Amino acid sequence: MAKPSVGVSEVGVSAAPAQSACPCPGTLFPYPPPRGAGIAAAVRRKCLQVELGAGTGLLGGAWGVESMRASSPTHAKAAAALAAGVDDERAAWMVRHPSALGKFEQIVAASEGKRIVMFLDYDGTLSPIVDDPDAAFMSETMRMAVRSVAKHFPTAIVSGRCRDKVFEFVKLAELYYAGSHGMDIKGPAKASSRHAKAKAKGVLFQPASEFLPMIEEVHERLAETTRCIPGAKVENNKFCVSVHFRCVDEKMWGEVSEAVKGVLREYPKLRLTLGRMVLEVRPTIKWDKGKALEFLLESLGFADCTNVLPVYIGDDRTDEDAFKVLRRRGQGVGILVSKHPKETSANYSLQEPAEVMEFLLRLVEWKRLSRSRARLMSLQ
Ligand SMILES: [Mg+2]
Repeated sequence: MAKPSVGVSEVGVSAAPAQSACPCPGTLFPYPPPRGAGIAAAVRRKCLQVELGAGTGLLGGAWGVESMRASSPTHAKAAAALAAGVDDERAAWMVRHPSALGKFEQIVAASEGKRIVMFLDYDGTLSPIVDDPDAAFMSETMRMAVRSVAKHFPTAIVSGRCRDKVFEFVKLAELYYAGSHGMDIKGPAKASSRHAKAKAKGVLFQPASEFLPMIEEVHERLAETTRCIPGAKVENNKFCVSVHFRCVDEKMWGEVSEAVKGVLREYPKLRLTLGRMVLEVRPTIKWDKGKALEFLLESLGFADCTNVLPVYIGDDRTDEDAFKVLRRRGQGVGILVSKHPKETSANYSLQEPAEVMEFLLRLVEWKRLSRSRARLMSLQ
């Protein structure tokens, strides 16, 4: 199969073939990189690295309704599991993935001499999972917690949602946003005064630009095909399409699966992945939340550094790509948000967004105290 030309879009730079048009932006980040590399080098390298990953999706694989059930436990199922005495299983799981709150001191001790970089998923991590994906609002207290974290650490939101939509929910211009599972990355529109003078603007990386017309077309086809399935909701997330089945009767999940697979058979350059109560259609490029995490670390100048501690918090199967990257690097902290035992590559767990907020606030408080202590020491 021919390799597509994968371009990079920035403000004023349209998508173009990779090798010939890698832009070399100036200072886009409010956090001064500790050394060399920087965004230009990161973009150049990624231009060369993004490749077709045909056949890596779920379409055509041995999956279907059972996979949907496994990744999307319903409240009734979770309650039944508890009633059946699965408490022991949960206790064993918690030993392997202890609470990030319970192990807070251990986590901050690991950051000694390192720069923490925060990566946060949105749905189910900063906001509760709700029936209507358009109503997944985050609380004002959570927004304040994220704002406080971003004052101390570079902070990115990494979501399957369209970048514009997730920004509408979060409303914090000082953050990095990686929408569409990391296929649409943008630096802060507003520089954090604590970290930089430069105002950082612009789209940094869009490795799937050429798929936009195809995604539009598939969005329309999927909306049409699933129109007769009560509760099914199709969402255009710019570089991917989400088919939510949260409000579909479980007896009809098979129909959702068949409808989506039926459409995708005509689009071999797209693949299907499974999230929490959602089927997601994406380009077959080798790009995911893990790649987005690496791209952002590289852009911030932490590509091969040992003095960085990435902390990634997420609740979804798609967040596993990021947890795996941290495992592979032997660097950083992966935290899964889940009330129920799940197979995960995360180190730690938190039960729900309320615990995520508590963790973020404790991190801010710890940082403030550390700074105060350092100031006192310097005066002695
Ligand atoms: Mg999520």
